[in-house]
Amino acid sequence: MTGSKIRHVTRFAPSPTGLMHLGHAHAALFAQRAAGPEGRFLLRIEDIDVTRCRSEFVDAIYQDLAWLGLTWETPVRRQSEHLDDYWEALEQLAARRLLYPCFCTRKEIEEEIARAGGAPHGPEGQLYPGLCRHLDGRERRDRIARGEGHAWRLDVERAAAEVGPLEWRDMSRGRQTADPLALGDVVLARKDIRTSYHLSVTLDDALQGVTLVTRGEDLMPATAIHRLLQALLELPVPEWHHHGLLLDDGGRRLAKRDAAMTLRALREAGRSSAEVRALAGFPD
Ligand code: GLU
Repeated sequence: MTGSKIRHVTRFAPSPTGLMHLGHAHAALFAQRAAGPEGRFLLRIEDIDVTRCRSEFVDAIYQDLAWLGLTWETPVRRQSEHLDDYWEALEQLAARRLLYPCFCTRKEIEEEIARAGGAPHGPEGQLYPGLCRHLDGRERRDRIARGEGHAWRLDVERAAAEVGPLEWRDMSRGRQTADPLALGDVVLARKDIRTSYHLSVTLDDALQGVTLVTRGEDLMPATAIHRLLQALLELPVPEWHHHGLLLDDGGRRLAKRDAAMTLRALREAGRSSAEVRALAGFPD
């Protein structure tokens, strides 16, 4: 025993909204290798978005990953089976007055931004202009009682003030200062779904004992929010490793719409799994 063997719990967490492509192969192999020879590699199906996720894509994920030569622990956590867990955490935050209901439609938000002559830009576009942040308690209760559709937003300023300055560590970039305000008052429970990407991913990583979160660098801004949620909910803090994204020949990131680059298409075109692993950046 060298005592220095890498031993992480990592996960690959795809959303079954389409067939996996080379970029997903890269992310899955990256996570599996990052766990180290004695580590644990988990698979999680992020299927909270019932409007876009389909079970045939879940089957395709299992098939493609097995073909790539990956093995993972079972049972696989499927987020759609744990909506009550997410709701429980949400209720905790609501009881601490860190959330507020947001009744805005997308159109109302756009109109407000136009009226105000623009809104500050965050890494994911324009920030929520805060229309519902200052509604009084009575109006909130009345509108909810009338059955008006509403999301739940995190009052990020209040939440960040409650926990103080936060840091996190990225394996390739080192220590980072979390800036949760950069994303504005993010939605923690969508109108149509009683949770959100931010909430479910943070809770699940903690629940599953993930010690190293690996994912594409496009998701790096979200980490500040996840770090904030960990502090608010007293969850363990993992390390992160945000990796680069695979690009197509034109220098654009691969997307589920690029049919020719799906693992299924590559397989059907006669590519071997070793070739595809190499194309995904992991030659044997
Ligand atoms: N489900 C997310 C996606 O497919 C990834 C979640 C994460 O790694 O944090 O992009």
